[in-house]
Amino acid sequence: MARKIVLLGATGSIGTQALSLLKEDKNYELVGISANQNSAKLIEIAKEFPSIKFIAIATPSKAEEIKTTLPEVKVLSGESANISIIDEADPDVVLNSILGFAGFLPSLHALKKNKILLLANKETLVVGGKFINEALKNGTGKIYPIDSEHVALAKCLADVPDGKTVKELFITASGGALRDYPEKQIGVAPIKAVLNHPTWHMGAKITVDSATMVNKAYEVIEASMLFNRPLKDIKAVIQRESLIHGGVVLNDDTKLFEYSPNTMLIPIKYALSLGTEKRHQLTAEDEEAVKKLKFEDIDKNRYPMFFFIIELVGKYPDRAPIIINAVDEIVVNAYLNGLIRLGDLETILRKVSSRLTHETSNPSELKDVLNLDEKARDEATKMIKIFANALKNGNNPSDVVAKPIRDANKKHEDNVLSEEEKAKKKKASRWKNDPSKKALLKEHQKEKKAKTGYPKKEKKEERSSFHKKPQSFGEYMDHKDEKKDSYHKNDRHSSFHRDERKPYSAKGGFHRGFGHHDKDDDKKRKEGHGDGSFHKSYGNHHSSFHKDGERKEERRDDQHRSFGHHSFSKGRSFSSRNHSSSHSSYRGERREERTGDKKKRTFHRGRNNYHRGE
Ligand code: MG
Repeated sequence: MARKIVLLGATGSIGTQALSLLKEDKNYELVGISANQNSAKLIEIAKEFPSIKFIAIATPSKAEEIKTTLPEVKVLSGESANISIIDEADPDVVLNSILGFAGFLPSLHALKKNKILLLANKETLVVGGKFINEALKNGTGKIYPIDSEHVALAKCLADVPDGKTVKELFITASGGALRDYPEKQIGVAPIKAVLNHPTWHMGAKITVDSATMVNKAYEVIEASMLFNRPLKDIKAVIQRESLIHGGVVLNDDTKLFEYSPNTMLIPIKYALSLGTEKRHQLTAEDEEAVKKLKFEDIDKNRYPMFFFIIELVGKYPDRAPIIINAVDEIVVNAYLNGLIRLGDLETILRKVSSRLTHETSNPSELKDVLNLDEKARDEATKMIKIFANALKNGNNPSDVVAKPIRDANKKHEDNVLSEEEKAKKKKASRWKNDPSKKALLKEHQKEKKAKTGYPKKEKKEERSSFHKKPQSFGEYMDHKDEKKDSYHKNDRHSSFHRDERKPYSAKGGFHRGFGHHDKDDDKKRKEGHGDGSFHKSYGNHHSSFHKDGERKEERRDDQHRSFGHHSFSKGRSFSSRNHSSSHSSYRGERREERTGDKKKRTFHRGRNNYHRGE
């Protein structure tokens, strides 16, 4: 007998592809569908699938239209419609492809009702992993993932030979739309560039999350929940073609991986088969193709959000994911609406999540999760308002955000400094403003620079790109700004080429083993990897990535530099001395740390800030 299935989020990208499979699949009878507000599409689907008896729509005003057009169908509406349709339709299987946090409660409900859950909603596990695991433990419900990476992992884990154990899991990332974008301009990248994903066609939110690699961080968290492994056992690596989606490394260092076309139909099929679909077996032709694939480390400067999230979630696994997810949903939306720039998105995500995570406590009940989610959304919205207003008035958001803190610091100083110290300070500032003393001051600075290397000259040319107006999703869709689009312009003029970048080859690992240095590669292959696996260098790559990550964590932990980024060049580590000071002042704790004579403001240039400008 055919299994009854309810499809939540039927009008989205995954929903539509699932429908195309369900149409042909005799094992399933589609009895219910849901959507947020697209009533026209729901009606269209219901006409195509006469087996549909229930329709849920979250926006109540849209329900009437469906009721009048389809009188024989039961229409549910409102906030909890996605939950009540599970009760009313009572299916065997629920496919959840709802976007965002809204998908969490329906997933939890399905498992509590012992349904089989085919899960395309990432947030379910990211936000509610703990509650989902409880529901799984206490009932007979099951989860099958719908995500290329997790399906690859599940298929590989099913193929682990007897007597072998799994050492490590890995998932791949394409690198997103900005993988070759000039790094210093990522903070002001236009929406058109951000939505131009090189290998996958997906919804706007997840495409932005791919460009920032927030999505990949979520997937690492999801994998850790799904396969019950600590975060550190799950590695992420860039595989540009998105043809290897993930795999496992066994205790004897052999690797199993899934090599398949980059279409979501494969993961959906796997879930619909209830996990019985097998890994694609490599043909001789595939083996050759696999050898040509390239892998790269995830670059800490290009994708700071990935490392930020993994680090914060590693320390606060119970509450950080809830906060990060809520803030991310709000900031991505603001970015797509043209309110803020990509660099602002990252700044707000980083600052609000970091602060709230430190200020709040772990949720113990479901209602705490909902409260925390709401609080994070409120805080993010407040910060976006400040940023958006500043940008609208042609101001620098970081100045606006930092001003109250500077004022408070000044007030504090006034209170603690003695009269004598104040007089001294005043005199010094008078001296500084006296035109007759200016030449003397210049000389003094010159001497100082010779001695300490400070102050360095500010780079001025980037000011223009900083003031670039963010482009909204709407503007992008209308192609209005085509001519002004700096993406292509930069592409044309930039001599920047990833493969030529020294820091990359210096990192070695994957990159070196894979196609960039052919001789090396050939030699390695000759050493024999009969399993068709792609690399000896894989292990090196990972261990170094991991060591690095740990070292960073320790350093940050000690010095409270969760916002800092470290860039490495010519063997020197440029730690973000300047950032730490602005970070701490943002948090209201003034740090009496020497910041250098050059005070570089933190957030105004987006990604540029993560480098120490010369
Ligand atoms: Mg994925």
